[in-house]
Amino acid sequence: MTSDLAFSPMTGLGLRRVVNAAGNMTYLGSSTLSPAVTESMAAMAASPVDMQELKAALGARIGEMTGSGGGFICSSAAAGIMIAVAACLCGADPGLVEALPSAPARRRVLIQRGHAVNFGAPILQMIRLTGAEAVEIGAVNATLPFQLQHALDPETAAFVYVVSHHTAQSGMLPLETVVALCHERDVPVIVDAAAEMDLRGYVAAGADLVIYSGHKAIGGPTSGLICGRADLIAACMLQEKGLARAMKAGKETMGGLYQALRDYAPADAMAAERQAALVAELERALTGVPGCETLLLHDATRPIARVALRVRPEAPFTAHELVRRLEEGNPSIRVRGHRADEGIIQFDPRQLAPGEPDLIGARVYAEVARLSNGSRSS
Ligand SMILES: *Cc1c(COP(=O)(O)O)cnc(C)c1O
Repeated sequence: MTSDLAFSPMTGLGLRRVVNAAGNMTYLGSSTLSPAVTESMAAMAASPVDMQELKAALGARIGEMTGSGGGFICSSAAAGIMIAVAACLCGADPGLVEALPSAPARRRVLIQRGHAVNFGAPILQMIRLTGAEAVEIGAVNATLPFQLQHALDPETAAFVYVVSHHTAQSGMLPLETVVALCHERDVPVIVDAAAEMDLRGYVAAGADLVIYSGHKAIGGPTSGLICGRADLIAACMLQEKGLARAMKAGKETMGGLYQALRDYAPADAMAAERQAALVAELERALTGVPGCETLLLHDATRPIARVALRVRPEAPFTAHELVRRLEEGNPSIRVRGHRADEGIIQFDPRQLAPGEPDLIGARVYAEVARLSNGSRSS
């Protein structure tokens, strides 16, 4: 029910309607939340709670859900990366926690050069924010085991491993190799799996801390989730007496994320069926667009199928122009345009509502017709 105070982005602030064919993007508000999640947030928001008790209880439950020693919730995955690195620098020493970003002597944090991504902000900056020195190893397209062995010195505090379509997809050391070599030297491995769907696999592969965005695959409110070794999770909690204070999550966020985790099942037949139906609708709606061919593309690391338009080189418009036209209108149709240089525009099913594929198809046809008639005004 709406009250005088209730508003939606469209009615209250005059914003455009967004049709999200891009995916769980931070810049589009990430996941839309289920009624169960928003109800849990409202319930948690409505009463006082002992935050230490809440964190301990949630940490234990997250440990069970992820097959790890415990869990910690903060404001975002970006924050989670920083907190995990800080935890590896400081351990259980509250003096070091308060001293950051004056990092201790053991302050080198390794990352493969092909993993030094920008996910909206540079991952190296999240590492450096703690005072750590981010040390890139290998080349953009290749890392060899000896390069890691050479870099692992007594000043090395942690290794950050990124699982994402943003990284180089070949030539990188596999997680198992990184874990084996780092553990020989007692160096913890932090996995940034922000947008990934597998909540147990990286812990099972030996990662010491694993970070997820609460608002991406999990479908929770904007938040970050860290799970992993019990002593390092305790070290993350201790960071709340220092840097992590600036990155805390509130009780309502914790309630919502916990509900989303309970409801989350990556193999959920319903979600897979729903996505398959939307992909079929997208294919129907986008087949036959003049100047384009339709492709079905699969995500590099996750079981996600997307319909793509490839704008032929001889078409009288570019993929970039079409992406911009779709974005400019109302509704604003947002697509995955990061391969537009190759002429490829991808349409992601995950945040679409039924019927939206037809709306997208109609707009694509209309914009292509306008672009082809030479109205290339910018
Ligand atoms: C999205 C993303 C992040 C940042 O996640 P936020 O929760 O939005 O801070 C970090 N790393 C990778 C690989 C990502 O995809």
